[in-house]
Parts: sequence; C-alpha cells; structure tokens
Amino acid sequence: MNPAGRTDTVGGARRTLAVVGGGIIGLTCALAAADAGWQVKVVDAGRNRCAAWVAGGMLGSLGEGRPGEDALFAISERSARLWPAFIERLGDPRIATAADSLFVATTTADAAYLTQLADFVWSTHPHAVDRLSRIDAAGVRVRERAIGARVRGGYLARGEGAVDNRRLIAALESALVAAGGRITRREVAHLADLDDADQILLAAGAGLADLWPAAPVHLAKGEVLRLRADRMTVPPPRHVIRARVDGRMVYLVPRHDGIVVGATQYEGDMDEWRSGLATPQAGGVAELLADAIEVFPGARDYALVEVAAGFRPCSADGVPLVERLDERIVVAGGHGRNGIILAPYTSEMFMQLLTDDGVLVGVGVERNVT
Ligand SMILES: Cc1cc2nc3c(=O)[nH]c(=O)nc-3n(C[C@H](O)[C@H](O)[C@H](O)COP(=O)(O)OP(=O)(O)OC[C@H]3O[C@@H](n4cnc5c(N)ncnc54)[C@H](O)[C@@H]3O)c2cc1C
Repeated sequence: MNPAGRTDTVGGARRTLAVVGGGIIGLTCALAAADAGWQVKVVDAGRNRCAAWVAGGMLGSLGEGRPGEDALFAISERSARLWPAFIERLGDPRIATAADSLFVATTTADAAYLTQLADFVWSTHPHAVDRLSRIDAAGVRVRERAIGARVRGGYLARGEGAVDNRRLIAALESALVAAGGRITRREVAHLADLDDADQILLAAGAGLADLWPAAPVHLAKGEVLRLRADRMTVPPPRHVIRARVDGRMVYLVPRHDGIVVGATQYEGDMDEWRSGLATPQAGGVAELLADAIEVFPGARDYALVEVAAGFRPCSADGVPLVERLDERIVVAGGHGRNGIILAPYTSEMFMQLLTDDGVLVGVGVERNVT
C-alpha cells in the first residue's frame, strides 16, 4: 500500500510503468507513480547527459518572472508551494540550502532592469506582492555581510529558496528504490525496447527529440561553476543571490560547503549533447567567475572544483509539455531553465494523465515516436 493509501492494480496485478530518463522529471514522476502503487522501472543514459545534475538548484518563480511568460510564472508559483511536502517525502531536510533570495544590481541600468522585473510581478500577480519587497544597500549588507562594495540595493524575495540538486537526485533514487522501483543505466534507442510496460513516460530531457522527432523542443546550453569554501574562507552566502552586473546576470546559489555559480545561455547543439561531452567556453566561464567575485569578493579564495556545461530542454513558451501522446505513452519535457522548481507540479500533472490512460489529449503536433 502506498502513502496515499491507494494501489493501482488490474485484476490484482500491479500495473507497470517504464520511465525513459532518470533526471529530475523522470525520477519525480517515477516516485509519484511508485507511491501510487505502480511497478516502476527507470531507464537512464547517465549523468553526463543530465541537465538536473549540472543545474544550480534555484527554486525561482519571482526571480524567473518575465513579461510574456505569465503561464510559466503561474505554474512556477504553484510548484513552489508543493516543495515543502516534496522535501518531507524525501526525508532529507539538507536538500534545502537557502530559504530566501536577494535580487541585486551594480549599475543604474542594472537597477532599472530589476525594477522592470519587479513591476511585472507586482502588476500581474498581486498575491506575490508580500513576498517581494524593495531593499536598500544597507539592508542587503545586513543580510549578507560579505557582499561586494559595488552592489546596490534591490529586492528581497521571501520563500524563494534553493536546493542541492545532486543531493536531491540521490534522495529521489533512494526513495524510488525503497518504494520498490528499479533504475537501469542504459540508453533507450527505441520505445519498442520497453514492450513489457503497460505505460511509458518519456522524460528524456534534451534526448526527447531522439525518441519523438517532432518534439517541439530546442536546446539552450549553459555553464555552471562549483566553488568550495573551507575553514579559512568567508562562509557561503545564506541567500540565493541573483545579481545584474554590468548588464549580465549571475547567480550565486548557496551550498552547505560552497557556492554554485551560474549560468550562461547559448543555442545548444544536439550532437554535442549526444556526445555526453558538453564543453564549457572560456569566455562564459571567465565572465561568470569575474561577476561572482564582484558580487561576493570572498569567493576569490574558494576552490574552483568544477566547471560544467549542460543543455536545457526548452519548449517554445517556457511552459513544459506534460501530455499524453497515445494510450500508452505520456511525455513530460521542455522544462527549460525551470525544471527543478517545476518537478512537483509536473509529477501532479503526470499522475492525472497516468490514471487517465484511455484519453488522448491532442495539441495539434505530430505524434510520431520511434
Ligand atoms: C546550466 C543549467 C542551470 C540550470 N539551473 C536551474 C535552476 O537553478 N533551477 C531550475 O529549476 N532549473 C535549472 N535548470 C534547468 C533544469 O536542469 C532542467 O529544466 C531539468 O533538468 C529538465 O529535467 P529533465 O528530467 O527533463 O531532463 P534532465 O535533467 O536532462 O534528465 C534527462 C535524463 O534523461 C536521460 N536520457 C536522455 N535520453 C535518454 C535515452 N534515450 N534513454 C535513456 N535515458 C535518456 C539523460 O541521461 C538524463 O539523465 C538548469 C539547467 C542548466 C543546463
């Protein structure tokens, strides 16, 4: 019996689900299905092709709010509210690494850019007003004493935290196995390889297009740095710091032992993703490092322990595709720059589709899968 007290069976036998992709979306959906009584197997090609392994781990809805992306903002807000219960289900409170965010600027133009984003949030989503407040430079320094001298005021986003995405993935894998699920490391070349499953979830991230050639998804490559503190350095910040520095965005995401610095964005190439050898570019890495040190000078003494690149699988409008392709196949993909925050929302949508397997939801795109 699952935590919800239900068991999905047909004629007494547990129904089977095969999940292609063991990134954040595949694992979160797999765990929800296992908790609902499904017999689940996840097939995953490996972490060197997994965006969720590279990601920063921000749970950003206010900070990701952009004019023209109202639908994405609404589902991000909804998903943010599901996070406390999700972390409780995983039983590891250290997955959370920050509770609030600071949005800060260096120049007048940077400050004007942040004001535009804040105005968008305040004007279109009045319920979020209380969570986003203006804060002056002194207020920023009270909250983060080691902040850089050029940093002006900005905004405090209450309840907009971050997670350690690698700890999260490890916790999801453990919880899934404890709930009776299986994880296999291999690439699925054709869905015919999964003939034995009653239902299939395609959650292959950037790999979606290899299994569903008409997938309306494009790739955005991004670089991320991992810096480690030690007992001689200033401690990591307590807030997520999203900074606009001389016209560029940089974010510093706290870890218990350091900072994750992100992220650049370029057009992504499918062949580079397939190779599993995403190469960071020198220029992008140099800017991230310089901007991070500008915002948080103590980072200069941290160890640079990892420089990585990953591929965000993006839909056209930022809203993920969570839909049924036919009576056996469901897809959950295209989460772009927000797949971590959107994971609990996605698994809720997925479970509705899974238990509704007779219905084909069409959105006017070609459904050929390989
Ligand atoms: C640089 C960067 C920073 C980011 N920062 C954030 C952030 O701070 N907050 C946030 O919310 N989001 C962030 N994201 C976005 C987030 O990581 C993605 O939206 C999310 O990982 C998408 O989840 P997914 O499970 O669909 O894909 P992935 O996490 O990429 O997982 C897909 C999995 O499928 C596997 N796979 C692919 N093809 C096959 C196949 N044929 N057979 C078997 N397995 C296969 C891959 O090996 C991989 O493990 C960031 C992304 C990047 C690149």
